[in-house]
Amino acid sequence: NEALSKNFIEQIIDKDIESGHCKKVITRFPPEPNGYLHIGHAKSILLNYGLAKEYGGQFNMRFDDTNPTKEKVEFVDSIKADVEWLGAEWNGDVLFASDYFPQMYEAAVKLIKKGKAYVDDLSAEEIRQYRGTLTEPGKESPYRNRSVEENLQLFEEMKEGKYADGTKVLRAKIDMASPNINMRDPIIYRVAHMTHHRTGDQWCIYPMYDFAHPIEDAVEGITHSICTLEFEDHRPLYDWVVIETGYKTSPEENPKQIEFAKLYLTNVVTGKRYIKKLVEDGIVDGWDDPRLVSIAALRRRGFTPEAIKMFVELVGVTKAQGSVEYPMLEYCIREDLKLKVKRMMAVLDPVKLVIDNYPEGQVEYMEVANNQENPEMGTRKVPFTKELYIEREDFMEEPPKKYFRLFPGNEVRLMNAYFVTCTDYVKDENGKVIEVHCTYDPETKGGNFTGRKVKGTIHWVSATEGCKAEVRLYENIVDEEKGVYNEEDGSMNINPNSKTVLTECYLEPELMKAVSEDKFQFVRNGYFCVDNKDSEPGKPIFNRIVSLKSSFKL
Ligand code: ATP
Ligand code: MG
Ligand code: MG
Repeated sequence: NEALSKNFIEQIIDKDIESGHCKKVITRFPPEPNGYLHIGHAKSILLNYGLAKEYGGQFNMRFDDTNPTKEKVEFVDSIKADVEWLGAEWNGDVLFASDYFPQMYEAAVKLIKKGKAYVDDLSAEEIRQYRGTLTEPGKESPYRNRSVEENLQLFEEMKEGKYADGTKVLRAKIDMASPNINMRDPIIYRVAHMTHHRTGDQWCIYPMYDFAHPIEDAVEGITHSICTLEFEDHRPLYDWVVIETGYKTSPEENPKQIEFAKLYLTNVVTGKRYIKKLVEDGIVDGWDDPRLVSIAALRRRGFTPEAIKMFVELVGVTKAQGSVEYPMLEYCIREDLKLKVKRMMAVLDPVKLVIDNYPEGQVEYMEVANNQENPEMGTRKVPFTKELYIEREDFMEEPPKKYFRLFPGNEVRLMNAYFVTCTDYVKDENGKVIEVHCTYDPETKGGNFTGRKVKGTIHWVSATEGCKAEVRLYENIVDEEKGVYNEEDGSMNINPNSKTVLTECYLEPELMKAVSEDKFQFVRNGYFCVDNKDSEPGKPIFNRIVSLKSSFKL
């Protein structure tokens, strides 16, 4: 039943269409350009974009830049890049709330003329005291009953720069006894002599979020203004502003605010303050460090827009607050890449394997399927030589029970190549194995030989034709046993092993042609992505996105 499987927002939209309140669904993503976007924002972006698409409507990209601060321009660019990368195509040009400052000013004047707004001279501290508490009603300001004429003049003087920051505000005249504190004459304009990144010094009064946001929505014809749960108590004010400024006549009409639960990931740091500290303490290298969950970091790590979309769809849209496990996101990227990427051989912790009876200097090219589960991906040629590298853990001098890989006397399959039997090994003066020796059986070429059975299959890379590269492995930056935050002092519980840099890895030569953000499976080792920051042409660095083993089951 399609109606039942619809989420609560779709059900609201259906009703609005049925009642005739909504002709064309228009949604928006309204970030404040004051930081990088993270996985939670991805949910909001894909939700708003997805609804517009589903209903044949329109999705607006609007910067909510009504609060001027210094660091903004850089964030406008990074946010645009993130939204584009996620594939959320917005309608027309990017929009800026600051373009509506004239409409907002006019709306404020309209409220004053209706006797619904007044200029207040109380200080910020006094306004806070007068506001009251949940159990105590607020107290009216002595300036509350100024005449319309006086208010109009004072507000104009505020705009002209006659007053210093903090000396006067414009407040909506609603109800100081309202049980909802947001309705106790909220401030809607303040004086701030600040330079705005787009409007420069044109304005020295700026609208407050609760006044600006509904007008931005109304000006753009947004029908469904989707935000997170903490704004639920602000909805009566949202409707009040839209109605009193003349954009609608009742709460049932559009635009209307709809709240949903934020996306939280268990044991993952998302707070800006904490990420800033990780950056400042040098624990991570910037906002796009592959261990973080900013959209830029997820992209750099190797997550795809498709995997993120699958993830937010699996999580669903609800009003119930909860926290989702990170392994669910890992599940999604494995699912997405499984049939899409080539399965290559890469040795991360190498030890040399010498085939004593293989001709010196010979290079044989083995025909290898690019993806055994997806024959359409074709085959490639992988060079095979007398000296190879194999994983150090694929050889043991004295194997425990059930160890089927290389040990003296044992025969294994070199994936896609030959069966080899271990004959000997060499150690250095510290007792570390530096070379394993074996002989091969030419009869077994291709690895599909059925004449006898071997239990172990290991991967390899030619020591002379393969290439050396850097590979980075990651774990959670948080110590999962202890949880994100230390309960005593609020500090973070950091996992000291969250990043491992391997500089001596050997890769199939074809991998040297990989470019930024190319993704592969390295057989037995996981999924990997070419780092988009530190790689150089012909010198890719690989990030492990995720291992092959999963703890998550759908
Ligand atoms: P801050 O005010 O600290 O920047 P913010 O990131 O919530 O916090 P916005 O930039 O205004 O602020 O966010 C843009 C949009 O993303 C908003 O509509 C917000 O509701 C949504 N959003 C933010 N965090 C999440 C989250 N964890 N899950 C889902 N949506 C989110
Ligand atoms: Mg933000
Ligand atoms: Mg915000």
